[in-house]
Amino acid sequence: MSGSYISRKLSGLIVECDLLLQWKEKDLADIICDVGFSCMLCGRCCTTEFNGHVFLLDSDAKRIMDMDPSLLIPAPEFELADEMGNFYVSGYALRVLEDGSCIFLSKNRCQIYNERFAICRIYPYMLHREPDRRKNLEFRQISGLNEHGEYNCPVSDNDAHVFARETIAYEHAWLMQMIDFYTAAGELFEQKRTRHIRAVYDKKIQEFRKGTPVCVHVWYNGKFVPVTMRCEDYRGFGWP
Ligand code: SF4
Repeated sequence: MSGSYISRKLSGLIVECDLLLQWKEKDLADIICDVGFSCMLCGRCCTTEFNGHVFLLDSDAKRIMDMDPSLLIPAPEFELADEMGNFYVSGYALRVLEDGSCIFLSKNRCQIYNERFAICRIYPYMLHREPDRRKNLEFRQISGLNEHGEYNCPVSDNDAHVFARETIAYEHAWLMQMIDFYTAAGELFEQKRTRHIRAVYDKKIQEFRKGTPVCVHVWYNGKFVPVTMRCEDYRGFGWP
C-alpha cells in the first residue's frame, strides 16, 4: 500500500465500519426519541453557511449525472494530492448558488423533497465518529445539535426506527465509498510510485486558491474521473 498516510486512513475507516455495525437500530432510535428533534423549516441546513457541502453517495451522483452533470462538482474537501500536485477526492457534491444555498432550495423549501438525496433524507441524524474537546473519537448522533430546529418534540417509535435504520444504512454506504476510494488511491499511487505529502497538498491548495487551475481525480462509479477545476468554480462554498 502506497504511503503510510493512506494505510492509516484505511485502518481508521475499517475500525469505524466495525464499530458502526455494532450499533443496534433500537439504540439509535431511543436517542432519536430522547432528543425529539423537529424541523422548523428554516432552510439553514441546505446552505454552506451551516453545512459545508452536500456530499453525494455514488448512487445519488449517478441520478444527477443522468439528469444534468453540470449540477455536480468534485466535493470541495479534496482528500489527497500526489507528488505532481494532482488532487484526489472521494466523490461529488451538489453545486450551490453564489449565496451558498443548494441549487434545489427555493424560498426555504426543497424543490425535489420527495426525491431528495440519501444525506438529505437522514439529516440531521448521523452516526459518525468525531473528536470531542479532548480529541477522543466519539460517535455523534445529531448534526448541529441545538443550532437549529426544535427539541423535546414527540417522535413516534416507528419514525425513530425508520430514521435510525436509514441513518445506519447511509453511514455504512458512506464508509464503504471512502474505503473503496482510499483502497483505489493507494493502489494507483503505488503504480505511479508517488505518495501523499502534506506539504505538497498545502502548497497546491494555496496556488489553487490564488487562481491556478488544478486536476482533481473524482472517485465515481469504481474509477477516478479527472476534472480540471478553478477556484471560482467553488464560489458559494465560503472560499475566498
Ligand atoms: S436537495 Fe433539497 S434537502 Fe438536499 S440540500 Fe438541497 S434543498 Fe436541501
